Amino acid sequence: MSSPLGLYVHVPYCRQRCSYCDFYFVTGQKSPAPFLAAVKEEIAHYADRYGDKVQADTIYIGGGTPSRLDLDETFALLDALRTSFRIDEPLEVTFEVNPDDCTDDYLAGLRALGVDRLSLGVQSFFDADLKWMNRAHTGKQAEAAIEGIHKAGFRTFSADLIMGLPDQPEEYWQANVEKAVRLGVPHLSTYMLTVEEQTPLGNQVRRGLVTPASDGTFERRFRFTMDYLRGQGFDHYEISSFARPGHRAVHNHRYWDHVNYLGFGPSAHSFWWDTALREHTLSAGGAERWSNLRSLTRYNALLGNHTLPVEERQRLTLDQLANEHLMLRLRTEDGVDLDRLLHVYGADLVMEKVDDLAALEEAGMVTLRGGRLRLTDDGKMLADAVTERLMLRDPAPRRR
Ligand code: SF4
Repeated sequence: MSSPLGLYVHVPYCRQRCSYCDFYFVTGQKSPAPFLAAVKEEIAHYADRYGDKVQADTIYIGGGTPSRLDLDETFALLDALRTSFRIDEPLEVTFEVNPDDCTDDYLAGLRALGVDRLSLGVQSFFDADLKWMNRAHTGKQAEAAIEGIHKAGFRTFSADLIMGLPDQPEEYWQANVEKAVRLGVPHLSTYMLTVEEQTPLGNQVRRGLVTPASDGTFERRFRFTMDYLRGQGFDHYEISSFARPGHRAVHNHRYWDHVNYLGFGPSAHSFWWDTALREHTLSAGGAERWSNLRSLTRYNALLGNHTLPVEERQRLTLDQLANEHLMLRLRTEDGVDLDRLLHVYGADLVMEKVDDLAALEEAGMVTLRGGRLRLTDDGKMLADAVTERLMLRDPAPRRR
């Protein structure tokens, strides 16, 4: 039986630059034809290399702003994936859209192309916030997009909201979450605003023009979000992700569970770990991660020359994989299965971190029940610090 695989395509176009954004994209878009030709070439290369070993079952088209592509271009992209990989009945085909691109015809067209899940970049329903972030849409457009998505008949979709905007009135955040629920959004991703250095926001903070929100502000808003959404019937299944039953994102689970995924397009990341080796031999078994360069011009030129646009490639050790597993799974509702950590990754957390685990449990940051380690709500507030404390630091090849 072939193993599952997630496919990701990074579409590197945006209408304008949001002030906080560190993703790779270009504005002032010309024809995407050279990009589509290049990405087709890249997809074909990896299909030749891995295609017979895998059955691709999730597709995620992200960016950038995939909805900058028109329907013919989107068809070409999906067609390149479908004709290169075995994708019989995908579990999920997600497409990221921005509100300003969501016309009724466009949404209906996406459905007709087999897209069955949308991820909508709302960020806030307040125009003052959107202007501050330099988003290309208004709050009204975000509302209209959600109504349009319902009307087009999408069974599931997600909306992104950004938490912790500096100087945002407390009631704005609460109103944003409440409005999303009122509009029938079945999945919400609530991201903390992070200040990345190489962004306009990073520059504003450096120059003292903006002061990031305090830890207390984040904490208050995060607690409100957890309490309110749970009260409304959402599962808090990952630290930033809330879903009504039946609406969890499948593709994202791939990242958290070390399922193989292949990413195409400038700046896209891929992960491959030989499944035949990983379960039985306690071995990193050729596990590697690689990422493409962040330049559309070079990406197109290299692939035009039949050369892969890989910028960085990293072979992963079992210790690194164990740490990643711990870090990613700790963010999820299911937590870390300690038996799995031992048998697949060779890491005996209870033995290696006995004192830290006891201290974290005592402080109410984690629970350890039924062989599963989970963050408590207090622990979620300090997730990075808790994870850091549990990292397995010994890089020695102690168990091969
Ligand atoms: S639309 Fe998305 S990818 Fe594009 S600049 Fe804004 S946040 Fe970044």
